[in-house]
Amino acid sequence: MKTIFKYIGITSPASHQGLSQRTLRPSLAPEMKTLYKYFIILILMIAGNELSAQNKALVNTSKSNYAKLSSLDMGAVQWTGGFWADRFKVCRDTMIPNLWRVYTDPKISHAYRNFEIAAGLDTGSHEGPPFHDGDFYKLFEAVASMYANTHDPKLDELMDKTIAVIAKAQRADGYIHTPTLIEERKNSGKEKAFNDRLNFETYNLGHLMTAACVHYRVTGKTTLLKVAIKATDYLYKFYKTASPELARNAICPSHYMGVVEMYRTTRDPRYLELAKNLIDIRGLMKDGTDDNQDRTPFRQQTQAMGHAVRANYLFAGAADVYAETGDTTLMHTLNLMWNDVVNRKMYITGGCGSLYDGVSPDGTSYNPNEVQKVHQAYGRDYQLPSFTAHNETCANIGKVLWNWRMLQVTGDAKYADVMELALYNSVLSGISLNGRNFLYTNPLAYSDSLPFKQRWSKDRIGYIKLSNCCPPNVVRTIAEVSDYAYSASDKGLWFNLYGSNTITAKLKDGTPVKMTQTTNYPWDGKIHIRFDEVPGNKAFSVFLRIPGWCKGASIKLEGQPVPQLDATPGTYAQINAVWRKGMTIDLDLPMPVTLMEANPLVEETRNQVAVKRGPVVYCLESADLAKGQKVFNVALSANSQLKPEMIRIDNSEIMSLAGKADLRDENNWINRLYKEVSTPKQNAVDIRLIPYYAWGNRGHVDMETWMPLDR
Ligand SMILES: [Zn+2]
Repeated sequence: MKTIFKYIGITSPASHQGLSQRTLRPSLAPEMKTLYKYFIILILMIAGNELSAQNKALVNTSKSNYAKLSSLDMGAVQWTGGFWADRFKVCRDTMIPNLWRVYTDPKISHAYRNFEIAAGLDTGSHEGPPFHDGDFYKLFEAVASMYANTHDPKLDELMDKTIAVIAKAQRADGYIHTPTLIEERKNSGKEKAFNDRLNFETYNLGHLMTAACVHYRVTGKTTLLKVAIKATDYLYKFYKTASPELARNAICPSHYMGVVEMYRTTRDPRYLELAKNLIDIRGLMKDGTDDNQDRTPFRQQTQAMGHAVRANYLFAGAADVYAETGDTTLMHTLNLMWNDVVNRKMYITGGCGSLYDGVSPDGTSYNPNEVQKVHQAYGRDYQLPSFTAHNETCANIGKVLWNWRMLQVTGDAKYADVMELALYNSVLSGISLNGRNFLYTNPLAYSDSLPFKQRWSKDRIGYIKLSNCCPPNVVRTIAEVSDYAYSASDKGLWFNLYGSNTITAKLKDGTPVKMTQTTNYPWDGKIHIRFDEVPGNKAFSVFLRIPGWCKGASIKLEGQPVPQLDATPGTYAQINAVWRKGMTIDLDLPMPVTLMEANPLVEETRNQVAVKRGPVVYCLESADLAKGQKVFNVALSANSQLKPEMIRIDNSEIMSLAGKADLRDENNWINRLYKEVSTPKQNAVDIRLIPYYAWGNRGHVDMETWMPLDR
């Protein structure tokens, strides 16, 4: 707050609170009008923030009337050890510096150079995909989120310098999209604003808005926010005046989340109006597609289909609009989508979007002209292939964003279950353990014997030239996991994700609470919580998430069992007390090794099992078999004994599962499609399973997640 006062040169907001936009005089010069507008928005923000105890959250639902939960301020949770501290350290020391180097080295990527050219600071042409601006904003958001935790002045300086370039690139009317701006500088006439929906302008703008909100919340500076306000104003005016044809520019709508977050930051009611309008106009054009979820209006959709990143971003944005408006027609569709995805279209890793290319389920018709092609998309119900799973990392992250918002709105633990599943498995799989290399797709099996090449490398690579959307997305997500760990409500504090950390939080009424959580989760289900600072004589509740996968959870207070506490899987166990400094809670979440099977309608995995322990899904890699043995010849029995053993891969501590498995004599499949069944050799091979997310970190391997079940 101090920084803002300093920035706009006032000492107290109180005397300005009565100002409204009506006080603007029409005779003011346009620049003065703009200045006044920013000034008033800042006053609104200051006034709003003073009323709110928690306003520096990643997603700020503290004043959302239809959200049950709100988030803690960014930086309130500090990882202190174990799993997430390790990933966070790699994020701080390698992921962010490395990706920043990649994005600012024009020999590798033009992500930053495009802004410099658009700002007139350099010459040349735009290079990279049209959504590269959005990629850069995501990386910027990762830096800002990291700054919230470290307060490293070098990051602050880096952001200041970068913002100056982005601001200089922006057009006076607020439009900012480097492919167009660069051509405009050249007067080439080649690019026009919103010329082509595949230019991804609104996607880029959405990520600018989100990054700006995060930057403002963690630094108090309004430099990037001013750019985002101009851009949001531009978008507001654009949608007021655009033809329906132009207005359909909503590919991969990150801007629904972005616009709502801008509303939360500025309280400018036009932004909420814009967000509502963006959803309302979907599906009104004649040539909408299932791939883009706009063949039918959002409220008439009954199943998840089409491009999975676009779908999940749409759902997350609609959940944001619901949090502000309580529009039950939106929640109705969101519930249909969620049940469809989780019950019929989600991989065991939480991944989604199984198809590289396919046909829309809605396009099924005897008239071939009505069949619509979809790509990187949700398939039909139960269509979940392993080798050819697309599962874009961004789709899996989109699902985290969507479920996070559903959790904030409802407080229902089922959303936290999906978030956790995706985070530990199909999000983390998108980046190498050393933090330098990335996967675009996340298949559940890989074999060099497959006689065709799939698009996109199955070895993680440093820069995905055609589509680098996933790397900054996964990096920002890892930087922000601490923001998902807890929530606050009128009743108290909610534990969503477990990990060793310290919390310096405020309850909704502003009273401070400090706690320490100690655990080796997800490798061990024992969680110890200690109160370090509590409000005196004030009762509040602690809500402990009991994961849906966990049977037999138990809770101790001050070392004593509390059997009367309801620890039903898939709920939050509520403990209400007047807490004292030094009081402890011990939560035990048993996590035995568990064999999982899929619904028999998933034909790809009939008679196969996957191995799970706690929230972590396991896989078998050829790196863990003796030379000459093949991954696809290994079979598990129903009574397989797999023992947890810690190992290290690429300096990362990982819980492996070691044991014996059966071996099938299936070596001779060359030019053979079918053969008679042979008897497997029981317990003939030593195996070691590793967490799915850690696959492909020991060179090029064959891998599988679903294994045949022998006995
Ligand atoms: Zn992506």
